[in-house]
Amino acid sequence: MATSGSENTLPLDQRELPKRTRVLVIGGGVVGCSVLYHLAKLGETNIVLVEKNQLTSGSSWHAAGMLSQYHADRVHLEIIKEGRALYGEFEKNPDTAVGLHSSGDLKLARSEHEMLDLKRWIGIAKTLGVSAEIVDAARLKELYPIMEVEGILGALWFPTAGYVDPSLTTHSLARQARGMGARVFQECAVEAIKRNQDKSWLVVTSKGTIQADYIVNCAGVWAAEISAMIGEIIPSMGVEHQMMVFETIPEVKALGFELPMVHDPATPLYTRADRDGLIVSSYSDHTLFFGAGGVPKDFAGELLPPEVDRGESKLAVAMETFPALQNVGVRAFVNGAIPRSADRVPLVGPAHGYDNYFLSCSNYGGFLFVALGRYLAEWLLHGESSINLVQMDPRRFDEYADDIFAIRKMEGVTSGHTGPQAGITVPTAIGAGAVWTSPVYGLLKAKQAVFETVGGWEVPKWFARAGDDTKELPAFVTPNWIGAIGDERDALLNSVGTMDLTSLGKFEVTGEGADGYMEQRLTVDPPALNEMVYAPALNRTGGLVGLWRVSRPRAGAYYVTSDSRLTRRELDSLRWESSDEVVISDRTRDRAVLGLGGPKAVDVLAKLGWRSGGGGTALPSGAEDGRIGFVPTTLVRVPYGEMLLWELHTRMEYQAGLYERLVDAGAEFGIKDVGSRALTAIRTEAGLPLLGTDINYGADPRDVGIGELLSLCKPCFVGKQSLMWRSSNGLKLVKFKIDVASTKLSVAPTGDEPVLSGETCIGYVTSATSTYGGGTVLGFALVDSQADTTKSDIAIEILEVPYKAEIVRVDLRHLKTARVKQGG
Ligand SMILES: Cc1cc2nc3c(=O)[nH]c(=O)nc-3n(C[C@H](O)[C@H](O)[C@H](O)COP(=O)(O)OP(=O)(O)OC[C@H]3O[C@@H](n4cnc5c(N)ncnc54)[C@H](O)[C@@H]3O)c2cc1C
Repeated sequence: MATSGSENTLPLDQRELPKRTRVLVIGGGVVGCSVLYHLAKLGETNIVLVEKNQLTSGSSWHAAGMLSQYHADRVHLEIIKEGRALYGEFEKNPDTAVGLHSSGDLKLARSEHEMLDLKRWIGIAKTLGVSAEIVDAARLKELYPIMEVEGILGALWFPTAGYVDPSLTTHSLARQARGMGARVFQECAVEAIKRNQDKSWLVVTSKGTIQADYIVNCAGVWAAEISAMIGEIIPSMGVEHQMMVFETIPEVKALGFELPMVHDPATPLYTRADRDGLIVSSYSDHTLFFGAGGVPKDFAGELLPPEVDRGESKLAVAMETFPALQNVGVRAFVNGAIPRSADRVPLVGPAHGYDNYFLSCSNYGGFLFVALGRYLAEWLLHGESSINLVQMDPRRFDEYADDIFAIRKMEGVTSGHTGPQAGITVPTAIGAGAVWTSPVYGLLKAKQAVFETVGGWEVPKWFARAGDDTKELPAFVTPNWIGAIGDERDALLNSVGTMDLTSLGKFEVTGEGADGYMEQRLTVDPPALNEMVYAPALNRTGGLVGLWRVSRPRAGAYYVTSDSRLTRRELDSLRWESSDEVVISDRTRDRAVLGLGGPKAVDVLAKLGWRSGGGGTALPSGAEDGRIGFVPTTLVRVPYGEMLLWELHTRMEYQAGLYERLVDAGAEFGIKDVGSRALTAIRTEAGLPLLGTDINYGADPRDVGIGELLSLCKPCFVGKQSLMWRSSNGLKLVKFKIDVASTKLSVAPTGDEPVLSGETCIGYVTSATSTYGGGTVLGFALVDSQADTTKSDIAIEILEVPYKAEIVRVDLRHLKTARVKQGG
């Protein structure tokens, strides 16, 4: 089990730190040990873990080890499911056992809204083959005889959920990794990290210096301190979390079986059995932070002072649901620190600007998400993970995201992850306020724009009409914004709409080597002068890393635009293969973008007056530098299915003035402000999937309808050879259509719903439009590539009701015509 820190009692392989390793894992909690185990399991055994104290002396030792299976998001649930299977395997062998208790888990619903949430979850579970059922209050009483079920409408019952012993688990992972060749050094604190010329790392520890090709930062609440050693800021912070451990409860002892875990989002409380007692905990609505300004130097293996008052206020609530608690005392308060990120989603993946420094930290459920170690290991060893970790990519945050930002984002937000889901509109914490705003932000705010934060930017989602609520109200069925978005979509299809697209990723590729670089980086021929092309880009293993729009608005420069959410990641992908002769500049924050879409957009542009760099007035067929009125502008023409979109890229200081002129010019055509939701609807209707949502980064382009876009006759591009040898992951991307009238559809899919062929689940929805108009709901789904999707029994199941759907393959060949139409 745990090895002593004393030198002469350590196994030989742990006494002297090697001079060099391929991967150095920092932190010996459950997360670091899981990464170590999975790296070894995937065949990389030249690996070292260093821990400043003993294994599990951080947050891991005092966790409850609960593996609750509820999560509102499919990717999280897939990771949870895999972790549960891993524990099941470990438990079979006494040498690897983790103290697994398969007690089951109950998630309660006290309102109709929460019942719908349970139904939505059942749908997600079906796509993953996770067993669960909704039980009524009578069955609930059988499963949990000491619960007061009055006011509870039902519960989700997960028979396979349970909990593990935190210490056993962490040591089991470390021991198994060592058995495969990994080396573990305790009492070995990382003190400094330097970068070598060859980009490897020189890590100074209390036991000597070690050179590492890769580093993985798994330092829990200390992760920000480790990242600071390479000059990197991350929004990670410790948050206090307290459990109350009760004395023996006679009613529990008398039962003769182990009670399931319970999650009650309305109160919000959770509990699990602890021998003949209970552990009860709650997510506080008043967040207490730990380690702001630095974790105390000698903090190790300690608990935080108990918050008795806080505990007592929750105790009263707990007693109403579990009356047996009234007769027993609290044996111990266990108050510890949970590592969390600003948006409460773990930070997993490479840090911006480095392909050999990875984060796996801010993980609030290290035991629950133990399988994340596998996906991090895949990412590090193979260049991509086989699961869509887009929401965990640390590059979703930028330079502003420090500890203060993390605090602002988290304070006042219930620190739990099982709180009631708000139906279609899942709320995000906006405690930090706006971060990046474009020059038109104030103007749009005054026009009742409802914003969301995308990649750091405040982006209008939709515009509230007179009488509309300006907040998104929780809803599963008809969201309060649906009418407003329908109007905005109509403007784009029938007249003209304008939108702020400043959040788009914008990069410029220049320099002597630019032509050669773009030739080998893009899977299609680079654009000629004033052309614009859709250019998929691959990594060395033939996986998709970018779906860029590349244009040449002037000689000597390529202009690349990407989706808004992960511009740091896109920039890294664009830069990885470049040389000193290529200059890749990030223009995302220098350049503002206004979009102008719809049949009357050309008339508005004509009124404003366009002059190209060469002096002509013909609108570009691709992209061109010129002037709109007197404003220096890059004008880009973007075909969007039925709609033609013009993007006006200007320097920031011009945007607000240009917007006002554009609105004046468009008044006679009824120009409308449009948000991202309406544009998403148009994109979906045009059959354009989104990388990171419908398409996993690293996917085989041929599985997702992008194969036809590649110019395979090009002699050479990055990833071409590997692509030939890749095999499909068994899922293909399809479009689906549901007819609203004939199916009597009253609720639209939002993502993760099962796709059925008869009774069989063959895939899941990745994204969908709502019923904005046209009588159909459209969306994308990933389905089994062997399934016959032409059959008449295909349906999308929404809140447990199947709706007949028509499925067609995604085909993006038409995007090639962007080039063909040049000059036309
Ligand atoms: C009361 C409570 C209940 C919880 N219940 C659950 C639960 O039921 N289920 C669940 O999944 N999670 C639960 N958690 C959360 C869980 O504890 C964490 O998610 C998990 O322990 C995080 O693991 P980690 O490896 O990231 O961090 P840690 O366990 O803190 O490991 C980080 C390690 O890095 C080491 N380190 C730091 N700096 C250095 C350095 N300079 N050099 C070398 N090493 C360094 C530290 O010593 C530490 O050992 C609970 C937490 C609390 C507080």
